[in-house]
Amino acid sequence: MAGTQDGRPREGNPQDSAPAVPPSRFSRVFHAFATAAGIGLMVLAASWLGILSRPEHQLASFWPTNALLLGVFARRPSLATPLGWLAAAAGYLGADLLTGGSLSATLRLTGANLAGVAVGCLLFHRFRREDLGLQRAQSMLRVLMVCAGAALAAAVSGCLIARSVIGADLLQAIGIWFSAELVSYVALVPVVLLLASPRSLGQAWRGPLARFLHEPGHRLPALSLLATVLLGVAVGGPGAIAFPVPALLWCALSYRLFTTASATALLCVWTLVGIANGWIDLHVQDDMAAIVSMRIGMALVAVAPLTVAGAHAARNRLLDALNHAANHDALTQTLSRGAFERRGQAAVERARAQGGAVAVLMVDLDHFKAINDRHGHAAGDAVLVAFAERAHRLLREGDLLGRFGGEEFAILMPGAGERDALRLADQLLRVSAQPFELDDGRRLDITISIGLAMQPPLAAGEPLEQLLKHADHALYQAKFNGRNRMERAVSSPAR
Ligand code: GH3
Ligand code: MG
Ligand code: MG
Repeated sequence: MAGTQDGRPREGNPQDSAPAVPPSRFSRVFHAFATAAGIGLMVLAASWLGILSRPEHQLASFWPTNALLLGVFARRPSLATPLGWLAAAAGYLGADLLTGGSLSATLRLTGANLAGVAVGCLLFHRFRREDLGLQRAQSMLRVLMVCAGAALAAAVSGCLIARSVIGADLLQAIGIWFSAELVSYVALVPVVLLLASPRSLGQAWRGPLARFLHEPGHRLPALSLLATVLLGVAVGGPGAIAFPVPALLWCALSYRLFTTASATALLCVWTLVGIANGWIDLHVQDDMAAIVSMRIGMALVAVAPLTVAGAHAARNRLLDALNHAANHDALTQTLSRGAFERRGQAAVERARAQGGAVAVLMVDLDHFKAINDRHGHAAGDAVLVAFAERAHRLLREGDLLGRFGGEEFAILMPGAGERDALRLADQLLRVSAQPFELDDGRRLDITISIGLAMQPPLAAGEPLEQLLKHADHALYQAKFNGRNRMERAVSSPAR
């Protein structure tokens, strides 16, 4: 069980426990056809875009379709059904025929396109989930291998069945086809793999966009990228494709993976389309070997920021995990005592500055030793975990829950009035009285004792440590008075 930053154990997803209603046969068939239609339309639209950038009797200067299709199938292998492939083929054929392509050339090009995507899917098949999300330092290098395999498959099969479309000698044709495929795969596959699901798309964008708009410093990597791209246009020459690399690395270290992937993809598209249209002069226009070299160079340049971004994300995740482990109790995932005291003191000072109240509850499970003795230590552990989860569900936003000792917990309620604190104490007593059911079906009954301290009426300006002492003293009174109750620190005990 994982915990949240405020020391609350994570709640189970209520949907997990909802009984699943199996979809009807009609809705399954409808869903399959609707999904296939979506794939077909995506392929049609992307191919149409690619065809727009295709000079006469040549391959497109940027062909996004294969990369999009590979990214979608890699991300959701369940879509790569025979119907899905058929819909994709229809999309390729439809785009070419609608834009005046001949049937025989179109069939051959579609075969080559699908061969590349199929090889990419086979290579992605063995990928780990973290690599698909570019979450590990070497993930992008692995994705590069897949892209190279898919590009080679498309190039070789394409040149064998559709060489006449390019009209160059075999080796040169393979080079042209391979380099064009490689750069579009490397640019677009990561974007598709990292794109947030439609349900969380809005949320994924809101935070980064707000930061971008409101924090001037956060815009610098993007502005520097734009500046180096313009510098490339102004200076030109073969080195210009490397001008944006430092800015891209800066983006990789500053933005989310998806943002870096999108910036890299835009740069690739801009460079390819810019060179094809003469907006960027790398002095390679009519030299096919130089164009192949430039495209492969562009693809390899794109790998660098995404490798850095993946390594950076992996490092951040590790730091988060270490931070969580350092601040949380490993069993109940509530805050550790040290973290509770640090965050609690800060919360007390904030509440005091705003003139608000603070409540502290010390909670101890009654006769817990007897639970261990009678049912075993594992049963005792399960009760502690379940109690922490029940307590957490009662907390308000901003409340802190920490484990102070074996079966002793502390709760801090910043800004809580007397009514809030008394209500929470009452609810804690009630939820703890519900039997705790173990995995083997045994049901254990427990009770708890609570000591409550509030500020005010306790001396204003007291540190959290003092409030905890008062609450502890009240807890002692609750035990002394017979347990299964709450006692309140009515006056400051002698210090
Ligand atoms: P009281 O009502 O006075 O609080 O009695 P108690 O038995 O709850 O308190 P006591 O301090 O005598 O015993 C606490 C017990 O909690 C002893 C120890 O074995 C158990 N304990 C401490 N940490 C853990 C833990 O992580 N897991 C389990 N299962 N038991 C623990
Ligand atoms: Mg106890
Ligand atoms: Mg105790």
